[in-house]
Amino acid sequence: MPVKEKIDQITLPTPYAVGDVHVYVVKGEALTLIDAGVNTDEAWDIFIAKLKEHGYQPGDIEQIILTHHHPDHIGLVDRFDRLKGIYAHDRVDRWLRRDQEFLRYYLEFFRGLYREFGIPEKYHSFEKTAKTTLRFAGKGALTGTLKEGDSLPGHPNWKVLETPGHAQSHLSFYNKHTKEMLAGDHVLYHISSNPLLEPPVNQGEMRPKPLVQYRESMKKILNYPIQKVYPGHGPIFNEVSELIRGRFKKQEERADKVFRIIQEKPQTPFEICKQLFPKQYQSQFDLTMSETVGQLDYLETEGRVKQLKEGGHIFYAVS
Ligand SMILES: [Zn+2]
Repeated sequence: MPVKEKIDQITLPTPYAVGDVHVYVVKGEALTLIDAGVNTDEAWDIFIAKLKEHGYQPGDIEQIILTHHHPDHIGLVDRFDRLKGIYAHDRVDRWLRRDQEFLRYYLEFFRGLYREFGIPEKYHSFEKTAKTTLRFAGKGALTGTLKEGDSLPGHPNWKVLETPGHAQSHLSFYNKHTKEMLAGDHVLYHISSNPLLEPPVNQGEMRPKPLVQYRESMKKILNYPIQKVYPGHGPIFNEVSELIRGRFKKQEERADKVFRIIQEKPQTPFEICKQLFPKQYQSQFDLTMSETVGQLDYLETEGRVKQLKEGGHIFYAVS
């Protein structure tokens, strides 16, 4: 088995602000598609045309491996008729199946959370966002699940690293022989990846702290001598540690800004979000809230702020 496997990048359009998404065709013992773009006819047509340039057709793809559950990465999963398997973190499965119970749980979680965060009803747009977003996701079910330390099926040189933060289901894949990483959206060269709020796996558990997880997942990949990163968006890049250190610095500066806002007086996450993102919070509400709450979680984990509960709302105060 050759150590170096052929990796072909295919770039597909998305209707999202992030722009194009990359998928990768990797030739090992199996012919594997890493990630699957968005579910539009335009993306599918472009995929077929570019796949042909690399000498393949859709029926040649034997399996799909997904880095995470976001719609721009799982869209085309149900368009392949000779697929033998779909593999990912087990948390991806519910997003491929999307049964009513899970969707209800998801919306219920955000309704409760947004209320606690002091967010007025007019910003409770997650229901609409979820519906429009899921239009571009593919449907299906996982054939097998991947976890930390597993080898990719059909690609024994590639190992799975769990890298939660951007998504609770996020995995990155590392080849220790070639020092290459298939990184999904874990690290992108041109923009920093957003840690996003998600409900806990099981109802009643503490919600995950995505920014705190994201920092851990970034530190984790600093332990690997990565020489080439194949990301989900933007350019392929080589230098990882400097990039990550820069991202840490920016994030910590933003956390200091949040801390100064709280120093004035205890406030709800919504009030803090408005001051942190005065220009963007209305047009990108869920994103700016996730970022704000991420910074609050980080400051709380560092012991610099604490939560106060009053009248059904959560306020953050200097501890
Ligand atoms: Zn993405």
